[in-house]
Amino acid sequence: MSKPKLALYWAASCGGCEVAVLDVEEHILAVADFFDLVFWPCALDFKYRDVERLPDGAIDLCLFNGAIRTSENEHLARLLRAKSKVLVAFGSCAMDGCIPALANLTTREAILRTAYQDTPSTLNRDGVRPVPRVAVPEGELEIPEFYESVRTLAQVVPVEYFIPGCPPQPPQILAVLSAVMQGAQLPPPGSVLGAGQKTCCDECGRPRNEKRLKRLYRVLELEAKPAECLLDQGLLCMGPATRSGCGALCVKANMPCRGCYGPAPDVTDQGAKMISALSSVIDATDPAEINRILEGVPDPAGTFYRFSVAASLLHRRQTQ
Ligand code: SF4
Ligand code: SF4
Repeated sequence: MSKPKLALYWAASCGGCEVAVLDVEEHILAVADFFDLVFWPCALDFKYRDVERLPDGAIDLCLFNGAIRTSENEHLARLLRAKSKVLVAFGSCAMDGCIPALANLTTREAILRTAYQDTPSTLNRDGVRPVPRVAVPEGELEIPEFYESVRTLAQVVPVEYFIPGCPPQPPQILAVLSAVMQGAQLPPPGSVLGAGQKTCCDECGRPRNEKRLKRLYRVLELEAKPAECLLDQGLLCMGPATRSGCGALCVKANMPCRGCYGPAPDVTDQGAKMISALSSVIDATDPAEINRILEGVPDPAGTFYRFSVAASLLHRRQTQ
């Protein structure tokens, strides 16, 4: 009997999700034994034509990590969608946009200008920019088009499941793969797998008290007490707006949650939820005093939306 087919792909992302798959340690051998690995360019020498020659729907499970930044990312998203029975947005970049989508706070033009002209170490007197197609004596060279905005995988193609995390934690990855390998009934399409149904606060275990904040601190300004809620201490912890599932890893290391597991269940916009939570604990009514307290958040967009700009209600900075 032929084995179920598994594909993994890496679009606009750092590659940490692929490393996290390998971090399931010796269990990767059981995964490799159970599945027929038909595409994993990061780990093995596959070509796009290996996927193109498969019949539609031939791949049983595809873990697609990375956001959609370029035309190549989009081409592979559409190709793997057509070839896969179950397509999973694997990790924060594919699910919510994550760090690559912070670029949605600026424009394509500004990014290219910085990268190819404005940095002090760049020598480019003719202002040369990459173009999708260029004629050379040998023929025409083609490189992927760099899009104006970063999109999530589900903003480009239909997706069956979502696995959050930057990266998803290896025990959670293993739990999902084991469920598939044991033939367990998966939840309905559209569900989040490999995570909890509560908030990071619910699994952090630190006692929370009535908070009234007169000042917010950056992590370098305060040595946090280890047995007290970090937000109570004035550190901006995204726990109230973030889905559980990681085991509150950062908080257990005495660092605030940054929000990488994405919006908590039933939360549409992670940043808006956190702004709302913070608004209710700021101990001031005078606008000037409120502004002074909020100066403790030097990068509001990058703090509240670090992992979720593309999936947020705004999606990108409006430039017109
Ligand atoms: S805000 Fe942070 S430290 Fe406080 S309970 Fe939530 S996750 Fe824990
Ligand atoms: S504590 Fe927050 S930032 Fe840290 S791994 Fe968990 S969800 Fe991600």
